[in-house]
Amino acid sequence: MQSYNSFEVAQSQVMAAGGMLNLDKATLELLLWPQREYTFTLPVRMDNGDTSILHGYRIQHNFARGPAKGGIRFHPDETIDTMRALAGWMTWKAAVLDLPLGGGKGGVICDPRKMSPREMENTARAYVRALWQHIGVDQDIAAPDVYTNPQTMAWMMDEYETIAQRHQPGVMTNKPLPLGGSEGRRSATARGGVLVVREACKTIGVDPTGAYAIQGFGSTGQRAALLHQEVFGGGRLIAVSDSSGAICNQRGLNPKELLVHKLRTGSVTGFPESQQIGLDEVLELDVSVLYPAALENAINIENSDRIKARIVCELANGPTTPQGDKILFEKGIHVIPDILANAGGVTVSYFEMVQNRYSYYWDESLIHKRLDAKMTRAYHTVRSAAQKGKVHPRLGAMLVAVARVAEACKLRGWV
Ligand code: GLU
Repeated sequence: MQSYNSFEVAQSQVMAAGGMLNLDKATLELLLWPQREYTFTLPVRMDNGDTSILHGYRIQHNFARGPAKGGIRFHPDETIDTMRALAGWMTWKAAVLDLPLGGGKGGVICDPRKMSPREMENTARAYVRALWQHIGVDQDIAAPDVYTNPQTMAWMMDEYETIAQRHQPGVMTNKPLPLGGSEGRRSATARGGVLVVREACKTIGVDPTGAYAIQGFGSTGQRAALLHQEVFGGGRLIAVSDSSGAICNQRGLNPKELLVHKLRTGSVTGFPESQQIGLDEVLELDVSVLYPAALENAINIENSDRIKARIVCELANGPTTPQGDKILFEKGIHVIPDILANAGGVTVSYFEMVQNRYSYYWDESLIHKRLDAKMTRAYHTVRSAAQKGKVHPRLGAMLVAVARVAEACKLRGWV
């Protein structure tokens, strides 16, 4: 296995775009690094009475276009470099969608699969106690990410409001609806992905009602499985994986029944009438659309040659390495890069922040309509930039994003 560092990958993407845009040295240096980083320890009381000292991070990559925005993940493999990479990708994602936000990301090194709800709550509250002075509706707004969810946001928002002694629901997004969450937010990442797949299918002539596969069956993968069929009125889900295994059925897996099975058993494996396949095989099947919806570094130098999908819609952050990008591009596979493909989440988070600010809530159809308009426009902006520069779509998206953020930095007189 090749060594992999997501921050080096993220920086190489900025350098590629910066080079093509002829950015001056100071601007490039500014964009290569996070503007602020917080690292801290969290004493968390566990159910057995012991106190665990967990390590927490919040990285605020760039504030030029607005407050930092991005998720908080709880995962055993986090490092400061994964956080730095992910925070930068949030800056570019917000810029590609033309949202008035910068990028941030946070995390705690822990394993939620082995933690009770009370231990999760203690961790969430300890995180906010450590960081509350540096987040807020005008500074940095959090959201869920891997292994965190609206309940995590509810605890975090409550801790923040308790310390701040005022109502501030906009400090977190993807909250439960009764606490100021937005309609459409829970499925927004998946919906945004399916919407850009629709645009890609129209543009390059692919039938979305053919076979599709999903790597990662967490909250985004589950919703994409359902929404793909809802939006296209068809489509055969032939393979799915999660961290415990992968399954396949060429005749099609029923997404609703699979979801019930996953919620009941905790895994996709053992689903009736499916055969178990290797974890990596799910990425290598002959499908119209492949949705990588797990973690970084899924499509890399070792397996990209075997990818057969017509369209790869990156619902995960950072699933394809630069070598993987090159190989997929040469093979003519249409990659919808993460900073576009999964930007539906932060887009509806932005709608949630707006609704929280004026305390007036939109209905679901309006959210869907506004999300569709933003995703469609961003898809075509990225496609034109990639075609104009004769580069792969990720670099096309980075050209759009880096130019927008660099311009904001320049207008502020920073560089
Ligand atoms: N964690 C999600 C992402 O990576 C959502 C971020 C947000 O809504 O702020 O895009």
